[in-house]
Amino acid sequence: MTATMDTLTSDIPIPKELADNIFITSLDKIYNWSRRNSVWPMVFGLACCAIEMICTAASRFDLARFGMEVFRATPRQSDLMIVSGTVTKKMIPTIVRLYNQMPEPRYVLSMGACANGGGPFKEGYNVLDGVDKLIPVDVYVPGCPPTPQALIHGLIALQEKIDQQSILTAPWYRKDTPAEFVPVPVLGPDLVDLRQLDLIRREAAKPRSAAGPSAVAETKEPAEPEPAAETTG
Ligand code: SF4
Repeated sequence: MTATMDTLTSDIPIPKELADNIFITSLDKIYNWSRRNSVWPMVFGLACCAIEMICTAASRFDLARFGMEVFRATPRQSDLMIVSGTVTKKMIPTIVRLYNQMPEPRYVLSMGACANGGGPFKEGYNVLDGVDKLIPVDVYVPGCPPTPQALIHGLIALQEKIDQQSILTAPWYRKDTPAEFVPVPVLGPDLVDLRQLDLIRREAAKPRSAAGPSAVAETKEPAEPEPAAETTG
């Protein structure tokens, strides 16, 4: 707090004898200071990265130092979603639903190579190549898995981001800006992002010959089989 006070008071003359008794700040600073030190993450893990997240909350690393030890078992009491692990196409509808149920202001931290971009399972038939394809991410933590120290570094980065926000401009504090809800994707033969329905319909309506070279190749008649060579006994 001393550093913050020094910064705030650097250009305001204060008598020396009062320097320890006067605290000059702004509403934004107080508001953000209280929010950054009471971020409540959601109890939520997807794969091996979740083990590191659990370690981070245990006594050796002790998230209580950052006011983040109160992991909540419901999205309605959570400020922070830590996406820790492989995001499968089967799981992402649930993740989006949980995100929608979190109250504003809410933050998302993507933990590990899998959540950041698919990791070792990128291009896998059942894995989403990055949770940010569906929900907005505030902080990315690299690694496979990231160590607890790396996760703490990401959480500190999130605190620094919170420090920069102002209640005058933050969208979640303005009445004229409705909360952002992400349509829950539908899992059929593949994952369908409902925000891209128009694009999907347009592409599906195109004649097959206009859909690309691979479609043209598919429409070609199969070649006649070669007649079998005559064999002589
Ligand atoms: S990034 Fe590595 S450690 Fe984390 S969930 Fe993926 S495979 Fe597991």
